[in-house]
Amino acid sequence: MAKYINVNGIDIEIQKKKIKSLHLHVRPNGRVYVSAPNWTSEREIIRFVRANISWINAQLKKQEDRPGPDYYKSRKAELDKKIEILLPEWERITGLSCKSWHSRYMTSRWGSCIPSKGRLCFNLQLVDKPDGCLEYVILHELLHLIHPGHGADFKRDLDKYMPKWKTYSSLLK
Ligand SMILES: [Zn+2]
Repeated sequence: MAKYINVNGIDIEIQKKKIKSLHLHVRPNGRVYVSAPNWTSEREIIRFVRANISWINAQLKKQEDRPGPDYYKSRKAELDKKIEILLPEWERITGLSCKSWHSRYMTSRWGSCIPSKGRLCFNLQLVDKPDGCLEYVILHELLHLIHPGHGADFKRDLDKYMPKWKTYSSLLK
């Protein structure tokens, strides 16, 4: 049976273990627990938690600020709707076509392309950028179907299809 203490309105689980010192943990679901050496008294644990209460509150606050799954679902629907309109338009302009595409949350890139599979991927965070940026990424990834790198051929095609591409790419730095 898990044992709980309540400090400042926060339920905290106590996990006694064969360890040497007290540790605090805040799980992504907002669960807080203390791992404590087997010999620690409850009073000592409470003292430890009180001493760290501002850290716990800061961690919990951070998790509240983190967007939940519903947020991503609605942003994804919003972005996908735009891509459904813009991608065919850019396929028509360039004469290139992808076999499939999807969008997902990425941290290090705005889009990706697997030329051998004709598969494009778009970063969910594009939904917060001007539509021109999304169009630029669509064009950029479409061009990777025929240009593997970012060389002169690639840039020449960018210039040709979207003379202002640098304006949008600089907004994505
Ligand atoms: Zn690229």
